Amino acid sequence: MKTRLLGKTPEELKQIALEVGLPAFAGKQMAQWLYQKRVRSIAEMTNLSKQGREVLSERYEVGMVQPVDVQVSADGTKKYLFPVNASAFVEAVMIPEQERKTLCVSSQAGCKMGCKFCMTGRQGFHGNLDAADILSQFFAIDEAAALTNTVFMGMGEPLDNWDAVKRTIEVLTADWGLAWSPKRVTLSTIGVLPKLKQYLDESRCHLAVSLHNPFPAQREELMPVQKAWSITEVVRLIRQYDFSGQRRVSFEYTVFDSWNDSPRHADGLIHLLRGLECRVNLIRFHKIPDFPYGTASASKMEAFRDRLTEGGITATIRASRGEDILAACGLLAGKHAAL
Ligand code: SF4
Repeated sequence: MKTRLLGKTPEELKQIALEVGLPAFAGKQMAQWLYQKRVRSIAEMTNLSKQGREVLSERYEVGMVQPVDVQVSADGTKKYLFPVNASAFVEAVMIPEQERKTLCVSSQAGCKMGCKFCMTGRQGFHGNLDAADILSQFFAIDEAAALTNTVFMGMGEPLDNWDAVKRTIEVLTADWGLAWSPKRVTLSTIGVLPKLKQYLDESRCHLAVSLHNPFPAQREELMPVQKAWSITEVVRLIRQYDFSGQRRVSFEYTVFDSWNDSPRHADGLIHLLRGLECRVNLIRFHKIPDFPYGTASASKMEAFRDRLTEGGITATIRASRGEDILAACGLLAGKHAAL
């Protein structure tokens, strides 16, 4: 099996160049072909010698995966299906807004975390994606050149695959890569505490945390992760970082009818987040099979939002996108949130 070049740094590409008898500077050239010109084959790297390309191709390939299906919503949202790990599929969802085109990317096939409201969690775990798999979601879609933002909010828990996600973020934000500002990248997590610390230390990108319930015992009913890393600890860690400037933290709160939508829950959230520069996104739940809770009414959601606002917490009700193709960022896979 050939090694994939996509996701490699210029330094790693330089080592590969030397290994196959190309000059050291070919590493930089390869990075340009991969990340600026976004070629799909080594044969297209035409400023490398023909013989060099042939030797390179014996052991390496670009490794960009092409989508096998795409569905388009009436509102322009597009859901792409990518094959990964020989037998699994993941989705990437492109959400167009006025000035923006946001890509919701997957980082794992399935997920180990087992959140009860999530269709991905129900599928079990079918392997990590590597950086080439994740970057393919950016490079192989029709809107590749027009993307403005990304959220790691598709299938999988990105901090459970931090090495590949970190490498992807490096390609997105490095000068030799796509040179995106970290402000264009948001990682969404349920709170994998040790990796969350690494994420906060090692990147400057935004953070979204799937909170869903301020009370640990009740949160644990739907989110087993709570047993390992309590939301209280997660918020305590986040408080140690500065979110008053460019970097932002938000909390995703899917509102389930009569489970987490009472005034007591709103007060619990206010207590948990008091004084933290953040935003709470209230997300309408889309009913899934064999799950006991339903969708909260619009009036209940508004009352919940208003109570948060009165308590000093910035809160918004987020609109769902692409509902006709079940593409509301991960909801086709049943997970975190609509944008
Ligand atoms: Fe995994 Fe996220 Fe689904 Fe939880 S909500 S099971 S972390 S994909």
